[in-house]
Amino acid sequence: MSSEPAIVIGGGPVGSLAAREIALSGHEVVVLEEHPISGIPNHCSGLMSNKGIKRLSIGFPSQAVQNRITGARFFAPNGKDYLEIDRRRNEMTVFDRASLDQHVARLAEKAGARYLYNHSARLLKRKKKKIVVSGSLRGKRGKVSFQLESLMVISAEGREARLSQQLGLPTPDVNWHFPAIQYELDGVKDMDPSFVDLYFGKKWSPGFFGWAIPTGPETMRIGACRAMNVPVSTRALLDHLMKKHPWLAPKVKSARIVQVRGGIVVGSGPIKKTVLDNFLVTGDAAGQTKATTGGGFNLGGFCGRLAGKTAALALEQDDFSAKFLSRYEKEWKWRFGREFYMMRVLRRFLTRASDHVMNEGIKAAHAAQLDQLLEDVRDVDLHGSGLIRSGFKSRPLMFWGMKSLPLALRSLA
Ligand SMILES: Cc1cc2nc3c(=O)[nH]c(=O)nc-3n(C[C@H](O)[C@H](O)[C@H](O)COP(=O)(O)OP(=O)(O)OC[C@H]3O[C@@H](n4cnc5c(N)ncnc54)[C@H](O)[C@@H]3O)c2cc1C
Repeated sequence: MSSEPAIVIGGGPVGSLAAREIALSGHEVVVLEEHPISGIPNHCSGLMSNKGIKRLSIGFPSQAVQNRITGARFFAPNGKDYLEIDRRRNEMTVFDRASLDQHVARLAEKAGARYLYNHSARLLKRKKKKIVVSGSLRGKRGKVSFQLESLMVISAEGREARLSQQLGLPTPDVNWHFPAIQYELDGVKDMDPSFVDLYFGKKWSPGFFGWAIPTGPETMRIGACRAMNVPVSTRALLDHLMKKHPWLAPKVKSARIVQVRGGIVVGSGPIKKTVLDNFLVTGDAAGQTKATTGGGFNLGGFCGRLAGKTAALALEQDDFSAKFLSRYEKEWKWRFGREFYMMRVLRRFLTRASDHVMNEGIKAAHAAQLDQLLEDVRDVDLHGSGLIRSGFKSRPLMFWGMKSLPLALRSLA
């Protein structure tokens, strides 16, 4: 049994969940986080499925909860037609992500993980059988201020995945990254606080979708997001959505923008190889998000737990070979591989679809009563195959799918 502390790079939710598993199994673990605290800056919309949160076994403090959601409306590019899916039960929760991330970090600390805040890892190098992590303290970028080494390193550094790349692993495909801007609004009128809205269409959010998420009786988080190769300002898109969208604009016309936040949504699907000798990569850094929505807290978090459990086992058995660690990769692929693929297919299809195809799709989904067909999608985090299966069950959607067949086939690659 090794006495060497493991190193987790990144004190975001996925890194904290990995570190917690290692600490819970009685091993030492150090978490390097480049910011002074976990969860800040906060880029996220904070919408999570209750089932996914339960799967992580983290509970949550009530002050992290902003709202409960029962349904969603999917607006066609024409801004008027929409499909409403009302699950009539509380399935999603809107969180303040900063509070939630800090809660998960506290759980890891309680279990025994040691957090080194303001520590930015810069360089990974192999030295004999170990990995050496060099970095700098916050504000001292150029200077190497610390050097740690370990037999077991996990990278949960987020979407840029610079460090895992240094060791030769692939990074999530940046062509399927989506820049996003969000406004926190106050003074919103006449909204339904239990519904989130998604706005599709080139003029609102080309290549992705815009959103409105109620966070309180008169407060709302709205966002616009676009494909990387669309040369427009994301902020201009959000202003346009706010001012011109036929459904949203009247509700927010006298609202005040309280906060502006930006971020990059990962919609690439996971990288294929996530394991090397002494090293695992997980979360956004491994592309483990739902490519349809970019949501990565729940599934990425679960993959983080799997990485942490595997690292704990490696420490237990003193075996840090890629062969031994590959059980992590096998497990996340076995659990989520098919869904990750299906969601990637859907993302590629939706990003490339014309407004006409999307308008027709919303109409077809309406005619097919997709909301009822989706009743058997019991886990909203794993919706890829359920959505595709529903399409095959209904004539209007099949007909629409046949008309879009070349696009659908292109999205399979
Ligand atoms: C606009 C937007 C909205 C989103 N909305 C949702 C949503 O509603 N629901 C949902 O589930 N997901 C959502 N996501 C996705 C979600 O935020 C991510 O999938 C999730 O945060 C991934 O967690 P992570 O720990 O892998 O990465 P991160 O949360 O990015 O954490 C990485 C951590 O590593 C630290 N770090 C990075 N590099 C270094 C380094 N070199 N040294 C030390 N520390 C380092 C960072 O400071 C950070 O704390 C959204 C994303 C965006 C951009």
